[in-house]
Amino acid sequence: MTQYAKKRYIYAWGDGRAEGDASMRDLLGGKGAGLAEMTTAGLPTPPGFTITTEACNDYFAAGEQLPDGLWEDVLAAVREVERSTGKGFGDPANPLLVSVRSGAKFSMPGMMDTVLNLGLNEATLHGLIKLTGNERFGWDAYRRFIQMFGRIVLEVSGERFEHALEAAKAKAGAKQDTDLDAAALRDLAAEFRSIVREDTGRDFPEDAAEQLDLAIKAVFASWFGKRAEDYRKNQGIPNDLGTAVNVVTMVFGNMGDDSGTGVAFTRDPNTGEKVLFGEYLTNAQGEDVVAGIRTAPKIAQMQTEMPEVYAEFQRIGQQLEKHYRDVQDLEFTIERGRLYMLQTRSAKRTAAAAVRIAADMVDEGTISKEEAIARIEPAHVDQLLRDQFDPAGLEAATRIAKGLNASPGAAVGRAVFSADTAVEWDERGERVVLVRIETSPDDFHGMAVAQGILTARGGATSHAAVVARQIGKPCVAGCAELVIDYATKTARSTDSGVSFIEGDEISVDGATGQVYQGAIATVRARFEDQPELQKILGWADEIRRMEVWTNADKPEEAAQARGYGAQGIGLCRTEHMFREGERLDIVRDAILVAGVATRAKTRRDAGETLSADDGAAVTRFDAAMAKLEVLQQGDFEGIFRAMDGLPVVVRLIDPPLHEFLPNLEEQLVKVTRAESTGGASEEDKELLATIKSLHEQNPMLGLRGCRLGLMIPDFVKIQTRAILNAQIAVKRAGGSPIAKIMIPLVGHVNELARTRHLLEAEARAVESKADVKVDYKFGTMIEVPRGALTADEIAREADFFSFGTNDLTQMTFGFSRDDAEGGFLLKYVEEGILPINPFQTLDDAVAGLMKLAVDKGRATKPDLELGICGEHGGDPASIFKCEAIGLDYVSCSPFRVPVARLAAAKAALASQASMAERDK
Ligand code: PEP
Ligand code: MG
Repeated sequence: MTQYAKKRYIYAWGDGRAEGDASMRDLLGGKGAGLAEMTTAGLPTPPGFTITTEACNDYFAAGEQLPDGLWEDVLAAVREVERSTGKGFGDPANPLLVSVRSGAKFSMPGMMDTVLNLGLNEATLHGLIKLTGNERFGWDAYRRFIQMFGRIVLEVSGERFEHALEAAKAKAGAKQDTDLDAAALRDLAAEFRSIVREDTGRDFPEDAAEQLDLAIKAVFASWFGKRAEDYRKNQGIPNDLGTAVNVVTMVFGNMGDDSGTGVAFTRDPNTGEKVLFGEYLTNAQGEDVVAGIRTAPKIAQMQTEMPEVYAEFQRIGQQLEKHYRDVQDLEFTIERGRLYMLQTRSAKRTAAAAVRIAADMVDEGTISKEEAIARIEPAHVDQLLRDQFDPAGLEAATRIAKGLNASPGAAVGRAVFSADTAVEWDERGERVVLVRIETSPDDFHGMAVAQGILTARGGATSHAAVVARQIGKPCVAGCAELVIDYATKTARSTDSGVSFIEGDEISVDGATGQVYQGAIATVRARFEDQPELQKILGWADEIRRMEVWTNADKPEEAAQARGYGAQGIGLCRTEHMFREGERLDIVRDAILVAGVATRAKTRRDAGETLSADDGAAVTRFDAAMAKLEVLQQGDFEGIFRAMDGLPVVVRLIDPPLHEFLPNLEEQLVKVTRAESTGGASEEDKELLATIKSLHEQNPMLGLRGCRLGLMIPDFVKIQTRAILNAQIAVKRAGGSPIAKIMIPLVGHVNELARTRHLLEAEARAVESKADVKVDYKFGTMIEVPRGALTADEIAREADFFSFGTNDLTQMTFGFSRDDAEGGFLLKYVEEGILPINPFQTLDDAVAGLMKLAVDKGRATKPDLELGICGEHGGDPASIFKCEAIGLDYVSCSPFRVPVARLAAAKAALASQASMAERDK
């Protein structure tokens, strides 16, 4: 075929042959690539052609002009379809009708536009009626075309057509669209055309070629439509991909009871169960099912109504699943008993389904364990560990209504009836549930911020259901008993009689489809009850290189994390134990005299005799410290027992001491008030004096971490003794404790060398007192930029490094951890000054410092153990960076351990793939 344009913009399929294939998604979009591939695989597809995404981009680059020659190529491709179908485009005797469909590389369900029945006009309509002998069908196709083309291409408000349709139904006493007869539809078409004339000031275009030209441009334009842009932003899809346009021969599902149309998945996209799942409607056209205008019966019913077609469809589904090695989401139409496949694509699925399908497909031998890992997203694991409703709370709750369990999970929030209200309320900090009669792509922004979604109409493949599953929101759809009134912002169940208004709290259970009054308490999803997830994570464990440790300060947390698969504790923040119960008083007592006592001890050690006051301070301080030592030893024994046989990194005290005392202003007010009404207590005055003496302008950059240990050594000394004695005790009781002592906030090697020297003396004392040799390691946190820059020197004194990326980020950016996130930082991210929040995902410069420290540290000590214990250790994107840097482990909060196991495996696979690429 002659090509008129400079580039090849068109790829056709038909007659069992296709010019494109599945590998060409970038150029042909998912739909075009799928149609080409299905055709080559011998499946029944209606002939057509794809105009590439490149054409879309060139169209916009040229200021919304079709590239030279493209239109001629389109006409040539149309002639090819005419030849293949034996029909003529615009031919009144035997008209070819086409659909003009968007189709981007990544599926964007319902976010862009599609026009059906294109090529119809007064003349071809009569040809169609004659050929089919079905007048009603012809007029119905025509009025649908005017409606769709009018709304999408000519930008006439859709509501005007809807009102006219409702009025026609009311006039004819018709319940459903299908109850309108040919005459009513003919009148409706005439009315639609006059709406177009009124609204646009021109007649509805009659010429098929002109219709096609306008529709192609409208589909291109829909790439930059608001809903498509919102969706891309939410899903991180780049703006410059463009959409392809597919021009496909129309096949009609509305030619009578031997015709139909449907959407089906090869496995249940909610649970992952291996059953054909979906819906279909007889005598209906494509959009009817998806829009949920008529509630469609389950696909299994097709088995009784059209057994042969059902069997063929089932066979094709299996064939496609095998071919693509993944669950497929299929669109099909049956025209007078003949099945046509219109689309196949990898199905969107819930987290539970993703995990089950991946596990099943490995067991079936369809995919490898590595592929299974590649298909599960960290967000899936996260969702599976999300809260569910507390059973007791559910029991006691008042039920409002029941709909379809469209997307699992528990959502609690205030009912709002529009997407804009959802966004507004969310911005002022309210949790909301979006309640709609049905959702359309225009509601996406509201769905994205809502806790959950509730609709009165539409099935499991309706827009609400599909989108909710994809973005991981609980959704109850098709709750038919709910009468929703947007005007009064109320909803009432015709079944239970219970109603609610805007602002009322409701609870939506996406797993059961139940909707309840009020806010029901939620409980954690139980990891123990999810064998498939555990199986997948077991495979992740086989694949990953990095270990996954946890940050835990209590035996219960340690046990929880261990249950989730943690292989050690990477950070036990000992100061958290200082705040528990009676301890705070002991700690405060010590702090009150810490300065005086420490100075006195130094003088005493130099041979000076102490004054009575100094002596008393030392006694008081030592007594408090002794109590603390006993309590801490108990804490460590508990943790060592919980982590028996696994390493436990215990970090010595880190925060500035004022954190254990009351706030300066509060104490000042208390003392001043007391003074004016009869006098403050000595205790309160002493406390105030201490708070004042410890006051610093920038405490996070002040006396904390190893600096504190060097200035007031007793804190770290007793902690070291407590750790080692706990280890001895647990070992004597038959356990296998593995302790690692970590010194925080080191910026200069001397800080570490001095601290280590001090603590090793304690260790020796413990060993000789207990008369045993204790196995322990000393390491440090790298969380000060100078520490990273001099890691080669620091490594001489350390057995391990753990990157404290919270502080390292704070000090690399010069952002205060405590102030930035609540203040300017979110604005920075919103306005794109920073691409990410660096406290959530490792910044590349911070990662660069880490890499430098890794290289320098290993140059000094090749077997230096390296990990991360900042919050980034549980963030998938940061875990990828840790893999690239070459860390030995990541450590994160217990709840994120499962996600980290998966992310570490995915990171290992990505790094293997990039190495293989380099070696090529
Ligand atoms: C860090 O700085 O990354 C860290 C783990 O320590 P903390 O958050 O306790 O300062
Ligand atoms: Mg820190």
